Amino acid sequence: MKQFQFTYKNEEKFRDSLNKIKHLRNSLLASTVLFTILVADGDKQDVKTVVDIIRNEIPDALYMGCSGAGNIVMGDFCEDEIAIICSLYEYSTTMLSILQLPMSTGEMDRTVDTLLAEVRERPWVKSVTLMTTIRGMSMTRLCERLSELPEDIQLFGGGAFSTDMLSDDSYVFSSSGGFVESGIVFLLTGGDDYYVSSSFIAGWKPLGRGILVTKAEGCTLYELDGEPAYDTYYRYLKIKNDEMFFINTLEFPFFYEYNGIDILRAPTKCNPDGSLTMTADISEDVNVRIAYGDPETIHSTVYDKAVELREFGPEAVSVYSCAARKTFWGDAEVGKETLPFQMVAPTSGFYTSGEFLRTGGFVNQHNVTLVIAAQREGAVSSGLSENIRLSREAVSRRVSMINRLANFIQAATEELEEANRTLARVAVSDGLTGLLNRTEIQHRITTRSKEKDTDLPASVIMMDIDDFKAVNDTFGHREGDNVLRMLSTLLRDVIEENNPKATVGRWGGEEFMILLPNMNAKEASIFAEMIRERFAALQFPKAGRTTMSLGVAQLIPGETSDAWCMRADAGLYEAKKTGKDKVVVASS
Ligand code: GH3
Ligand code: MG
Ligand code: MG
Repeated sequence: MKQFQFTYKNEEKFRDSLNKIKHLRNSLLASTVLFTILVADGDKQDVKTVVDIIRNEIPDALYMGCSGAGNIVMGDFCEDEIAIICSLYEYSTTMLSILQLPMSTGEMDRTVDTLLAEVRERPWVKSVTLMTTIRGMSMTRLCERLSELPEDIQLFGGGAFSTDMLSDDSYVFSSSGGFVESGIVFLLTGGDDYYVSSSFIAGWKPLGRGILVTKAEGCTLYELDGEPAYDTYYRYLKIKNDEMFFINTLEFPFFYEYNGIDILRAPTKCNPDGSLTMTADISEDVNVRIAYGDPETIHSTVYDKAVELREFGPEAVSVYSCAARKTFWGDAEVGKETLPFQMVAPTSGFYTSGEFLRTGGFVNQHNVTLVIAAQREGAVSSGLSENIRLSREAVSRRVSMINRLANFIQAATEELEEANRTLARVAVSDGLTGLLNRTEIQHRITTRSKEKDTDLPASVIMMDIDDFKAVNDTFGHREGDNVLRMLSTLLRDVIEENNPKATVGRWGGEEFMILLPNMNAKEASIFAEMIRERFAALQFPKAGRTTMSLGVAQLIPGETSDAWCMRADAGLYEAKKTGKDKVVVASS
């Protein structure tokens, strides 16, 4: 394939360009011509003129386009309003097809059904490129449905936008439909000699501790760790809720893992209740971290990607870069993160309101990322990778101060998180047996006794080893400890096998307590009987066999946890008094 990239100046110059393309097409015997028309602002009339001229001059040409927040031409940010990317496909085996369909919350399913049906009829399809209007819509459903495409089909693309990032004005158009403010254009490409490789990079790195999304719906992030989401930005970064909020938070979007890949989401505005409107859906119950954009990290990530891409030997590279990146860098600098690709192949694209990419089967909507699609026809040209030298000048390899500080914070945070996990575990467990300690099991029993919204019966089993003092006196304290440890393993096993909802704690010395939050006295006594039998069957290294006594009590509604436990204790006392090695159910 051959690709030409130019911008629209006026009708006359454009006709000239098309004439040259026509000649070239004839000399190359190119089978298919595709125009990708990228519009950053621009008079819509001019765009319509471009389309009309294409239709007149090259009637069989395919075209697709959309409005965006800026154009990328020859790998660099381009000030011109209308960019025209012309791809000539040289292999007769390469096939292209464009579909333009409606896009709204209500029409997503039908749109994807149509796409799936069209793809089914075209077994040659290898990639689906999309341009879609988004307008604050939740795209989760769209992504889920697009994931139904056959496994081996790659998908990538971007959301239409406007240069006024606060405006909802955006549109898509194509040779299969007119200009629409709510629509999606799919380009299906494939054939035996067509190769495509798609991927994404962010360059933003997570920072600080994980924060749980406790309330979110669609694009609105209400709460983090149970507090208004905005508070996080103020607490950690002192970002004020003023007109600069959007710009200030761009450098610090949220980072989380979803479908096994890294996702970034940035706030677009802060609402009066402290909730944040995000660039796209954010899931509830995920752990987010604030991420930071470090220019040098980003540059070296891009450089590494370009080097990797070189192996693929692309003839054209398409990039879908988040409009947030343009704001982050500024117009003068943003080109630096796409120019490395231009050293590999002609690179074009636009600044989007969301990037789409299929990874590991799943289609995801990204933000603040660069989605990259490299294409070629035929085998990799020999010698290509040696001829192309990527200049390293633009990319400093020095690790910046901010990067080092960020690593420092991240490492310190991980140490603290690990220490917290250990402390939390130690605080509730018993040292010798690893079971819950008395405070914790008592706490859980109390909580269960107060639970209102359940009809389930609950029981406790209190147990005590028979004549344990004799074990210690005869075989030593160590053997006593062995018995306690083996008993605790037995209790864990019985729970795991018979009632995973149960919890067990060490009540003291050689006394243990089990909470069965879902069993009545009858079921609990069967459970206790099983423990008694299995314990009696255990063979200890020195002590041989020993037994235990157990008391069971079912919770009487309204009863305090102390009263409940005392009844279990009474059952246990009764068992001891009447000969030990038995289970006694306490009366209610
Ligand atoms: P009964 O059948 O009436 O329960 O008699 P018992 O001997 O089991 O009861 P007693 O309460 O007189 O003795 C309990 C013993 O448990 C006394 C104490 O030395 C022992 N013990 C308590 N905690 C531990 C421990 O952590 N390790 C060991 N090895 N022994 C312990
Ligand atoms: Mg005892
Ligand atoms: Mg005892």
